[in-house]
Amino acid sequence: MNEDVSRVIFSEQELADRVAEMGAAITRDYAPVADEGIVMVSVLRGAAIFMADLARAIELPIEMDYMAVSSYGNGAKSSGVVRILKDLSSEITGRHVIIAEDILDSGLTLQYLMKNLQSRKPASLEVATLLRKKTRAQADIRCRYTGFECPDEFIVGYGLDYAERYRNLPYIGVLKPELYQ
Ligand code: 5GP
Ligand code: MG
Ligand code: MG
Repeated sequence: MNEDVSRVIFSEQELADRVAEMGAAITRDYAPVADEGIVMVSVLRGAAIFMADLARAIELPIEMDYMAVSSYGNGAKSSGVVRILKDLSSEITGRHVIIAEDILDSGLTLQYLMKNLQSRKPASLEVATLLRKKTRAQADIRCRYTGFECPDEFIVGYGLDYAERYRNLPYIGVLKPELYQ
């Protein structure tokens, strides 16, 4: 285990198993509308690893596209300010959009994003989030697919960073607080 991590919350195997289940659920739910077009949107950079694994667990034709927004900067606290740094390349009007998110904390980032994407008139818009923090006040966001509930601690790995580090850890763990306090 990385020396900056105090404990592992979700192991590589637990992540793989859960992502496979989420992919199977999406395959089942979207099979009837697959020919209308499905676009998975990943919110860079944290959700890129999750989406790469989730996409391979979906047995339907899907397009993969990316957006970059910023709400955290390099710190560990949400600023509540969301900026679009990179927009989608695809048109999503009339197509079924699934946002792949890494973690829902305050929900402010996703709330902003969903409003923005909804204004482009997709046929449907749903959220697949790997993690959801449970002990925080959250914007009212309905996630059709949630991987795990997680404790309100600062976590890293499997795409999640602190100051751009730790994204490539194959598991998710708690970052030692003395590293960011
Ligand atoms: P929100 O707007 O929901 O408060 O924050 C969403 C974004 O903040 C996530 O997509 C993620 O990039 C970042 N974030 C929230 N909690 C954590 C955490 O515990 N660890 C890391 N590395 N990023 C987090
Ligand atoms: Mg994110
Ligand atoms: Mg980050």
